Amino acid sequence: MSKILVTGGTGFIGSHTVVELQEAGYGVIIVDNLSNSKAETVDNIEKITGVRPEFENFDLSDRGAVLNFFLRHKGEINAVIHFAAFKAVGESVHKPLEYYRNNVNSLMNILEGMKYTGVANLVFSSSCTVYGQPDKLPVTEGTPRKPAESPYGNTKTVNEDIIRDFCHEEKQINGLALRYFNPIGAHPSSLIGESPVGIPNNLVPYITQTAAGLRKELSIFGDDYDTPDGTPIRDYIDVVDLSKAHVVAIKRLLEGKNKSNYEYFNIGTGKGLSVLELVNAFKKATGVALPYKIVGRRAGDIVKIWADTTLANTELGWKAEVPIEQTLLNAWNWEKRCRGIK
Ligand code: UDP
Repeated sequence: MSKILVTGGTGFIGSHTVVELQEAGYGVIIVDNLSNSKAETVDNIEKITGVRPEFENFDLSDRGAVLNFFLRHKGEINAVIHFAAFKAVGESVHKPLEYYRNNVNSLMNILEGMKYTGVANLVFSSSCTVYGQPDKLPVTEGTPRKPAESPYGNTKTVNEDIIRDFCHEEKQINGLALRYFNPIGAHPSSLIGESPVGIPNNLVPYITQTAAGLRKELSIFGDDYDTPDGTPIRDYIDVVDLSKAHVVAIKRLLEGKNKSNYEYFNIGTGKGLSVLELVNAFKKATGVALPYKIVGRRAGDIVKIWADTTLANTELGWKAEVPIEQTLLNAWNWEKRCRGIK
């Protein structure tokens, strides 16, 4: 059985990916310092899959701890999926050093540990944020990256470059970056999902918290953009679909099917939805009407972006499958479970 190190494996996308990996027959070791997640997620992963993943709690930006980990597990790990990172765009503007220190050092420590202990495969959690506001839609992997809008976004660009340069030199190591569009939803079991700390920044957690009565109303940030209904457009990807893309990527690397030792893929649905369309889909899916008001634009927002997923479809043989209403219903069921709503 191949064993996969999943950093950030108790986080939103990480936990769903651990479930999919275990269901596909992989062994998993999670490393997470629980800075933005809870240990009970490990229990819930076990409840879903019947298998308890191994779990270690330490800080991946601590070089000594990371090298020690790789030495202790020498010969045991076949691949790494690296999710662990700080991810709040706005916060990163105010705490740039914390973001660079955590997100960039963690990656470098992991690459060093991989090199010294002979771990050959890395899947990296990247983002469509590397494209900024693209000149042409949909975005393909050939679309040029643009200067990042925030330190958080820049850590994704810089980390892609570090992996590219490292793999260029270390031919025995394979890197594969997945550029996620907007991950949303929750596991259909309602046992794992997204748990933002404080007031949510992202649209779907804000919607589900509003529907649950925790927030008075959703503020829609601008309806005067150059889009059909004036609200911004995103490509919302179901978290379980997204997790399955990681399993496919791991399989590709372990079977040596990669075409070069650094590859990157867009992971989205290929379909753009406006904020208002998403709000309407939520109502259709759940029957819950959502109070909202239109307010001013949010600084730094992209107007519209969605993926061309041809490369992921053809090369990885992966495609998004869960309909948006089902995804939103899963998100709502998770929120209800968290709040004890029947
Ligand atoms: N959005 C909104 N109200 C909110 C949160 C988000 O209108 O409370 C809009 C935001 O302007 C953007 C879309 O929802 O157009 C997605 O925002 P999110 O922060 O989830 O993702 P990102 O902007 O990083 O793609």
